[in-house]
Amino acid sequence: MMQRELFSEEHNLFRASARRFVEERIAPFHAQWEKDGQVSREVWQEAGEGGFLCCSVPEEYGGAGGDFLFGAIFLEELARAGTSGPSFHLHSEIVAPYITAYGTEEQKKHWLPKLVKGEAIAAVAMSEPGAGSDLQNIRTTAIADGDDYVINGQKVFISNGQLADLIVVACKTDPNAGGKGVSLVLVEGDREGFSRGRNLEKVGYKAQDTSELFFNDVRVPKSNLLGVEGRGFKQLMQQLPQERLVIAVRSATSIETALEWTVEYTKERKAFGQSIAEFQNTRFKLAEIKSKAVMMRAFVDRCIAAHLKGELDSVTAAMAKMQSTEVLWDVLDDCVQLHGGYGYMWEYPICRAWADNRMARIAGGTTEIMKEIISRDLLAD
Ligand SMILES: Cc1cc2nc3c(=O)[nH]c(=O)nc-3n(C[C@H](O)[C@H](O)[C@H](O)COP(=O)(O)OP(=O)(O)OC[C@H]3O[C@@H](n4cnc5c(N)ncnc54)[C@H](O)[C@@H]3O)c2cc1C
Repeated sequence: MMQRELFSEEHNLFRASARRFVEERIAPFHAQWEKDGQVSREVWQEAGEGGFLCCSVPEEYGGAGGDFLFGAIFLEELARAGTSGPSFHLHSEIVAPYITAYGTEEQKKHWLPKLVKGEAIAAVAMSEPGAGSDLQNIRTTAIADGDDYVINGQKVFISNGQLADLIVVACKTDPNAGGKGVSLVLVEGDREGFSRGRNLEKVGYKAQDTSELFFNDVRVPKSNLLGVEGRGFKQLMQQLPQERLVIAVRSATSIETALEWTVEYTKERKAFGQSIAEFQNTRFKLAEIKSKAVMMRAFVDRCIAAHLKGELDSVTAAMAKMQSTEVLWDVLDDCVQLHGGYGYMWEYPICRAWADNRMARIAGGTTEIMKEIISRDLLAD
């Protein structure tokens, strides 16, 4: 494998403790969380106490003020263990950066220390039953009324939906202004009129609570507006390169991990008096997957390096998201095939990874939307 060049000694030490935390505090409980449909609240607090949440939040708000690599390392260690349940990355690498970037001093002081400690769990609610890719067409409204906004609407597919204490909600503050009428509003989980619907039954990511959310005349003070009224869509777009990079980091690691599991399995499993790994078809498939894994890692690491310098553009991030999730899907399908019937059994990690990662081509912007972004740029005058 080509040597990775991104990490300092401090990062390597962090990786060692993240790996230990995942092995000891996450992996042993994961099967039970899959049955429960959500992870425990305690594991969030433990992750916070261990310094694994929101690593890039500035020190003045309780964080470690680290770079993006710390969050990426934790994400890689979770992917390496095949533990898809805790949606830490959404909380740490997606919601916390919204608050850091657009929050008022008061919002930052109130929320960031709680998010760092895992005392509050965060979610972001954009998708609706009638609008996922087409976010400008959301119907949830936040209408000004005196010093408050009154929120009405419904969201769907919201990760951390059952556990969330803080939800960044995309709303229309001006329903007639299209994308320019979208604003982000902070909604606390205990607001009157807010309710959680079903914890949705999914093909994979079974330990992750993905839910419907309902807003029925939910009144929040105007001080809960995140950023500038009417700029919500722009704010979402500004943060998307990091969100898409996070998915690519996870996917690149999942490709490597699927390969490791499959090498191990095919060396042990016997058919026709030899190991499965000795068939030319297996060796060639493994060689293809290895090449894909190395190339994907090189590209994703290059994207991380660009992001650390503030130079990752939205088109490159879209390429990373699209290509990593598409390659991952092909790889997982090949790896399940090489496992035979056992590849279809839930107790095998390759089966869970296959079920979990089907959604990677959909969530965070579908492959087709990534193609729109890339081709629009390619064909621009
Ligand atoms: C497990 C999971 C977790 C999620 N977590 C969250 C979350 O935490 N917060 C949140 O807000 N959302 C979340 N989502 C929602 C996710 O972001 C949306 O599902 C996704 O953006 C697609 O939207 P949609 O489901 O409405 O599909 P649609 O937009 O209805 O798309 C259906 C199909 O049409 C295609 N399509 C749409 N527009 C175009 C176009 N212009 N050109 C070509 N093809 C097009 C799509 O690519 C897709 O193939 C989650 C989804 C899943 C599955």
